[in-house]
Amino acid sequence: MPLIWFDGQFIPGDAPEAPLTTHAMHYGTAVFEGIRSYATADGGAAVFRLPEHMERMRKGADMFGIDFDVERASQATLATLRANGHRDAYIRPLTWMGTGSIGLDVDPLSQHLMIATLPKVVHLGGARTRLTVSPWKRNPATSLPALKLSGAYVNSILAKREAKQRGFDEALFTDDKGYVVECTGANVFMVKNGVVTSVEHRDALPGITRDTMIELSGAQSREVTLHELLDADEVFVCGTAAEATPISVLDRREFGDNPVTRELAALYARVVRGEEPRYAAWLTAV
Ligand code: PMP
Repeated sequence: MPLIWFDGQFIPGDAPEAPLTTHAMHYGTAVFEGIRSYATADGGAAVFRLPEHMERMRKGADMFGIDFDVERASQATLATLRANGHRDAYIRPLTWMGTGSIGLDVDPLSQHLMIATLPKVVHLGGARTRLTVSPWKRNPATSLPALKLSGAYVNSILAKREAKQRGFDEALFTDDKGYVVECTGANVFMVKNGVVTSVEHRDALPGITRDTMIELSGAQSREVTLHELLDADEVFVCGTAAEATPISVLDRREFGDNPVTRELAALYARVVRGEEPRYAAWLTAV
């Protein structure tokens, strides 16, 4: 059982630490991140784009008035990886509102931080994926900011569950006007006539992998309709856990070979493992 860093100490991963009156359990008042570390050729490991993930987490924490120290959380992340001896790992930091009240005013509540590292990755995992347009709409950014607030993920969970019940792997959110938003835990790209386009939408999480893929591919970022996506040569989704995952099916549309996605996924795999010195600044050595 890997150790978890919890408020400054390491505890066993299965230790019961949160009281049943924990506010976050009742209302989703928590903020999380999904980060990855990769084994590097020198026998060590590196965390990919750690400052960007921690900065996004700080923005989320600000929404609840949680005091979030980026440097402390970053150091705790590295310490947890070392303590667990993890190199290829999925890193899950969570900061949450604890106890002190069961009301909706969060000011009286205790605040906590944990960092878990897991040797397994939990989303899509690069395998060709069958996608369907969800009947659910994404949380509009005017109601819930496009940040990793835990409660907001109920929206993703409903969409994922509905898609799986209809035999698909993953759900695609579109808006009322027919524009593509994102998937439940990944951003969307398309390739048409060799041009790579990154779907932009104000309700979508500004993904760090998306930003990476734009930099690596020179993709243009713009709004894209579902109609355009169905007409593309290749569609892929990307995220920290998903990396670059090719889409094989989008409802009744089947996609054939995906050479551009394959090449970009291979480049991404080299970048995150420190095999592309040009992008070494994105890596934090463990
Ligand atoms: N959209 C959503 C809803 C997500 O949960 C994620 C995963 N964090 C992404 C997109 C991709 O973001 P990132 O590349 O920063 O992991």
